[in-house]
Amino acid sequence: MSEINELYQEMILDHTKSPRNYKALPTSNRRMEGYNPLCGDRYTVYLDLADDVIRDISFQGSGCAISKSSASMMTQAVKGKTTEEARRLFQEFHKMITGVTEYNKNLIGKLTVFQGVSEFPVRVKCATLGWHTLAAALTGNEKTVSTE
Ligand code: ZN
Repeated sequence: MSEINELYQEMILDHTKSPRNYKALPTSNRRMEGYNPLCGDRYTVYLDLADDVIRDISFQGSGCAISKSSASMMTQAVKGKTTEEARRLFQEFHKMITGVTEYNKNLIGKLTVFQGVSEFPVRVKCATLGWHTLAAALTGNEKTVSTE
């Protein structure tokens, strides 16, 4: 088990040090800012949305390792997916991270590295910030989304 935990930690560290899709997106047609006042995490999520498909996604901002690595892996996970698929993935991710034992492990895939976060309620807000921001961007809400 500890080997798996180490592997997970390495993956989180890797995404913290070199986050994927970490840039502004010139082609974006949706943009949403997310803020977690509990930790100070603040990110902007950029979407290039066409015909209900996430053609491209990126993010930028600053925050702790968990929030940054989670947002980074989220961008990889939802790129090319339909808005419905992305919402469904967030639902499953949310179940896992809040400690619900029954969630779709096949759908979750690599995102399972964050499962341990469910033991730290304060950290759950960090791990879900990118996702909440994405969900708000998908609904086209123009306001800043906050985890509070
Ligand atoms: Zn945080």
